[in-house]
Order: sequence, then C-alpha cells, then structure tokens
Amino acid sequence: MANNRLRLTDFQLMPACKTDTKQSKPRASSAWQPPVSNGFRKVTTKRPCRICHKPDWCGYSTDERTSICMRVSDGAKGTARNGGNIHVHNDVPPTNSPRYNTKPAPPSIEIAPIEIRDAVYRELIRSSPVQKYYPHLIDGPDGLLSRGLLEGETSNYGALRPTRKERAQLARQLRKFVLDKFPEYCRRYSYAGVVGIPGFWQDANGIVQLWKPREYKMPMLVIPYKDNRGRIKACQLRLHRGDISEGEKRYRWLASPLERRGCSSGTPIHFTFRPSTLSHGQTVLITEGALKAETLVSLRPQVRAIATSGVSCSHAEIVEAARTYNALIAFDADHKTNPAVCRQLARLIAAREQDAARRNYHRTRSKLNH
Ligand SMILES: [Zn+2]
Repeated sequence: MANNRLRLTDFQLMPACKTDTKQSKPRASSAWQPPVSNGFRKVTTKRPCRICHKPDWCGYSTDERTSICMRVSDGAKGTARNGGNIHVHNDVPPTNSPRYNTKPAPPSIEIAPIEIRDAVYRELIRSSPVQKYYPHLIDGPDGLLSRGLLEGETSNYGALRPTRKERAQLARQLRKFVLDKFPEYCRRYSYAGVVGIPGFWQDANGIVQLWKPREYKMPMLVIPYKDNRGRIKACQLRLHRGDISEGEKRYRWLASPLERRGCSSGTPIHFTFRPSTLSHGQTVLITEGALKAETLVSLRPQVRAIATSGVSCSHAEIVEAARTYNALIAFDADHKTNPAVCRQLARLIAAREQDAARRNYHRTRSKLNH
C-alpha cells in the first residue's frame, strides 16, 4: 500500500498543522535519521510534546534537539522507525552533556512582525478584557472611569490575571490563535506560536507563559501602545499598588527579555491619531503615558496626542513624529520641582530645535504646558 511508503516529500505537501490519526501501521523509515546521541524519552504531562503539546504518545531526544511527534507531520524532516514525525529544533544548541548544561545561553529571539504582534495583542484584549475586573480596573477609585475615560472607551484595554497558571492558560489560547492565523510564523519557533511576541515566553517544559513567573494579588491593566497606523506595537501593564514594593515602577512594558525564549518590547511611542490624516503645521501634544494621552483625547476630542512611555524615553522618535507639527509638551507639572524631569524636558526641546535647525525648518516655537 502507498500508505506505508510515505516519504519526506509527502509530508511537505500536507497542509499546515495536519493531524495524523492513522498510526496503526509502522511507516517505512526515511533515509534521514535524527542526530541524537543521548537517547529518547516519552513525553509526560510535565514535559509535553513541543509540536502537538499533548502529554502522551510522542517522544523527544534527551538533548532536546529533536521531537518525534505522532500527531503532527507538517514541518517534519522525516519519519522515524515507529512512524512518528521527526521535528528538529534548530534553535536548541547542540550539547553532549545536557546534565551539566541545563541552562544554555538563550538563543536570541527575534521580535515578531508588527502584523502578528498587533493581532495577538488585540486578541489578548478581546479575550481578557478589562471588563472582567469591573470594580477594580474600571469603576474603582483607581479605575479607568475615574481617570476620565468614557465607558465605551474601556473596551480598548485588557487585563492580566494575577496567577501564573491563569496567564499560562491565556498564553495557550493565544498560541492556538497564532497557529490558526499565522501558521507560517509558527514554524519559526517549533510551533510555540507566541514566542517572539514581547511578554510571552516558553518554559523549559515547552509550556508557553505570559508575563513573569510569579503570583500577584491583583489583576493588571493592559494598555496598548499604537503606532502611526493604529497597530498595537507593544503593551504596558499597570500593576496594583499592593503588588509593588517601594521604589518599583507601577507601569511596566509587557515584555519578557529575561525569561526563556522571551524578548524585549523596546520603548515605542503611542499615537492617538494617524499622522497621515493630520496636515503639516497643525498642533500635536506630547505627553507621558498612553493612558494619559487617551484620557486627554477623550476629554478634548480635538487634541492629537503622542505619548512616550517615560520622560527620558524615545526622544528621537518623538522629534521625528512631531517634526512637521507645532508641539505642546505636556509632561507632568513636576518638571518645576524635579530636576531629573526638568533636564529631560530641556533635552527633548533641545533635540527638537536642533533637528529643526538641521533641516532648516521655520515654525512657531515649542510651548510648555502642564
Ligand atoms: Zn506530538
């Protein structure tokens, strides 16, 4: 029968994430065999299959470089003697002594394309909306309504659950989302899906995780940062006061540069408008924090705001974004008392003036406001 004569080329023609269920007959082994020197193990609940993420039937090499998945053939290098599909993880460095090398230098994870980040963050906000925590994050003394946002505008924000386990559930759900929507991207990191999207990472057992490996007392607000075309480039989290110790920052990037297979978000700026729709010579307002910028626009709909994540961040991006506009810089009023803020304000104005001088721009001066 042709059925047990499947070769590598047959697998490559199969659609993405094709699930094989007929495994009763062993298949002919392909000429290609996995480069394994340390033997194989069966997958378990603690260490599920990296390809299909199921806890049974599949196997993996103890050096973690190869998975033998009994279910998914798409992307496989060939067929093993037991009929399983051989998947090679090129991102795992070769090692001869995994026992003494449980923490290899993390391979650098490239950030996912903006279209994928935008889609995943939108899906995150859609499936874990701030409305789930109405009393805390919307209606409470620290909620979005008390800041001045309208009820209808709260749907632009998400919430992360306090427990690591619940966040991992959301990560798994979003992994499936990427698998469905961007199957090509999923191949890049052995079907981990969300790897490459700041905030997500993958633990040593192959389980995808979201945010830090710790427990919190309260849910966290998710604040999207949108680019000049309205796409979510990254998100910030606002932690509850009860979850931070003194001196710690309340607003953090949803990023995971220190976690296994995690990556950084950078410090993008946020646009409340599309510059392509605003003619040159108009006025933009520069402020600190996307939430503040959006609140301002909610209260004063004619305002076009650009937000930096911090007074010392992304000056070059702001100068570029505001280059053809008049700029009102509306940092917090503490520039009058806080020398550090004052210095950053001066640095930003100087950068903008120097940029204008270099480009021979003539325009009205930047104004201060607070
Ligand atoms: Zn599998």
